[in-house]
Amino acid sequence: MSDLMIRGTACHEEVRFVAAVTDETVEEARRIHDSTPLCTAALGRLLTAGAMMSALMKNEEDRLTLKIDGDGPIRQLTVCSDACGQVRGLMYDPKVVLPLKENGHLDVGGGIGRGTLTVIQDLGLKEPYSGQIPLVSGEIGEDLTAYYATSEQIPSSVGLGVLVGRDTHVLHAGGFLIQLLPFASEETISALEESLSRMHSVTDCLSEGDSAEELIRRLLPDARVEDSHSIRYHCGCTRERVEKALLSLGRSELDQMISDGKDVTLHCDFCNKDYLFTVPEIRQMIAPPPSTVSP
Ligand SMILES: [Zn+2]
Repeated sequence: MSDLMIRGTACHEEVRFVAAVTDETVEEARRIHDSTPLCTAALGRLLTAGAMMSALMKNEEDRLTLKIDGDGPIRQLTVCSDACGQVRGLMYDPKVVLPLKENGHLDVGGGIGRGTLTVIQDLGLKEPYSGQIPLVSGEIGEDLTAYYATSEQIPSSVGLGVLVGRDTHVLHAGGFLIQLLPFASEETISALEESLSRMHSVTDCLSEGDSAEELIRRLLPDARVEDSHSIRYHCGCTRERVEKALLSLGRSELDQMISDGKDVTLHCDFCNKDYLFTVPEIRQMIAPPPSTVSP
């Protein structure tokens, strides 16, 4: 079964939610990056968050980028997602290993360390909307909860979990995102706080076989699912886009490549695909027909 994300409301429409199961998406990320369990968990949490957060965007063309920069060994994580449930991600070093925490969990917070979380929303306006906060714990769920409170003034709760097996493959991944709407009553707020305090970890729930709907019903028993979307790891890089990136290096750089006489290979870090450009192809690229010569 492919990964699924559900959206809906609960508590007399005073709360909105997204919940997701992302086993295959995170496993695909692990396969592409050949990451250690710690790095798989860190990127997998951010990929799950990216998918859920972009489900709250208004238009299909909207794009979301989440960036974490920390002083821990993982250093940097980037996730890009769109409103259609397509996510991709990369990390600075996919090979980080740290001792497990006392509770036996992977030490994602220790791997990321102190630093910043940046959220960039491209909503098709002139400039993308960007917000940045200092990391709270580096555990990602708590950091995103703080982001919503600080940057968007929306009381939210983000829970994320990735369980990696002994063979480094992903066993379970998923999460939830809950937001209080402005007119939420005190009663709803305290009931939700109570459920959150009693909630098991996301990985525990998924290990018990929870679907996205069962996961959210642990917190919001009256959850009403309004729609569902599939989620998948998808890069979307094309030769055309890579060619543009190559052109952006500038004429003198490209002239140098031609005089070196060697083919150039550009690598996409999101999906591990190589794009080969031969010297004649590069020559062709910088010799456009007269009508398209730029001033
Ligand atoms: Zn790619």
